[in-house]
Amino acid sequence: MPGSRKESVNSEMTLSHDREDYIAIHSVADALACARKRLNGDDHLKPVIDFTNEYRDLADLCVTTLSAKTRKKIQDTAQLFKKRRGQLPYVVTRHQADSYRFLSWLYVSELGFRLVYNSAAKESVSHSPFVPVENAPMVAQKLYQQGYLSRIFFDRFHQCGSCGSTRLNVREECMTCRSANIEEEEIIHHFNCGWQGPESDYTQKRDLVCPKCNRHLTHYGSDYEKSGLVMHCHDCNDSHSAASVGFLCLDCNFHQDSESMKTITHYNYALNDKGLAYLMKSHDLSADPALPDSENTLQVKQLPLLIQQEIIGLRLGIAPSRNEGIHPFVLMEFSYSKAFELITLLGEKAFTRLRHRLHDNLRAIIREHDLFAQGSICDYLLLKETNKKTVLGEDSAFIERCQHEIDHDLGIIIRAFNPGELSYGE
Ligand SMILES: [Zn+2]
Ligand SMILES: [Zn+2]
Ligand SMILES: [Zn+2]
Repeated sequence: MPGSRKESVNSEMTLSHDREDYIAIHSVADALACARKRLNGDDHLKPVIDFTNEYRDLADLCVTTLSAKTRKKIQDTAQLFKKRRGQLPYVVTRHQADSYRFLSWLYVSELGFRLVYNSAAKESVSHSPFVPVENAPMVAQKLYQQGYLSRIFFDRFHQCGSCGSTRLNVREECMTCRSANIEEEEIIHHFNCGWQGPESDYTQKRDLVCPKCNRHLTHYGSDYEKSGLVMHCHDCNDSHSAASVGFLCLDCNFHQDSESMKTITHYNYALNDKGLAYLMKSHDLSADPALPDSENTLQVKQLPLLIQQEIIGLRLGIAPSRNEGIHPFVLMEFSYSKAFELITLLGEKAFTRLRHRLHDNLRAIIREHDLFAQGSICDYLLLKETNKKTVLGEDSAFIERCQHEIDHDLGIIIRAFNPGELSYGE
């Protein structure tokens, strides 16, 4: 929690003329009010200017002394926000739906959605308190799934299977009793009786005494040798050739071994071209505040490279006369309407595994010269010398084949395109 106000700046007087254009933070109370305002009000597209030096990386600008130079900086920041607000359609800047608030904030602030490490948080990461939506990571992930944001890997954490915390003690443990009270020891081999065991079993005060035959071991090389290393447990007295890795949750004391650990991946997000185009186009916001499905065309240049190349090759080789109704190719796009739900429920890794199961099913369906490629959000299948009717047949039966032996409904949505229905951006 931010504490001291070191060199508090008396900006009230000096800057009152443009206070309308930014939100000033002079104290913790201001910061809390600002966070609330950004969440609920219409001020989410104004810059947050921190005069306390406590929100350095979280505010849009941090000013600790007032000089002609810093005053100019404040003015420039306010101007920039104003200019960029002005570039957005008015309805977008006023809309209260999370998606619009988040996208327009990303645009105006010119910042991406960024995480920082935070050991005080169960998730071990946090973001600026001035992000204008609640549950920003969820909103960002959803917008990413819809294609409006790009994401950049931040970090991956192991997560407690009981309470979801990432604050874990990762430790080496005894394979028998899971105690961390283990130590690497040398194994002593007593030549005389053949006994082998960890050194601590032989130790009696300053001497080495064989636990089996009770003889003293004095000469290394002729009496005994050290034949290797072992992990010895001081709790159950077992020894193993290696330790295993275990995780103890610091929040709920739940214990897990590495095999059963779930991981969670955190990302930073940035507005991409599609998100920007979406913000800028004219909106009928009375209809539906949720983002609409992407338009009913598919840009070839947005497809995985492998598919792009194949399509370009096929188009060059198209012969003028063909069998009635047969196209040189049909492109199928697979998207997953339950992706967001499943990722939230099972985690990203598990969702990826489900998607791979679907890929296996598709591989069994396609023929040798067909092509499959995975995109970041959708997957694609390029089927040659066919038509949509042959491919899809009974639509529901096809989806059933895709879902074969996959425990969770992926919400598969298939769109199929003839060569003439694709947009080549020419
Ligand atoms: Zn826990
Ligand atoms: Zn043990
Ligand atoms: Zn012995």
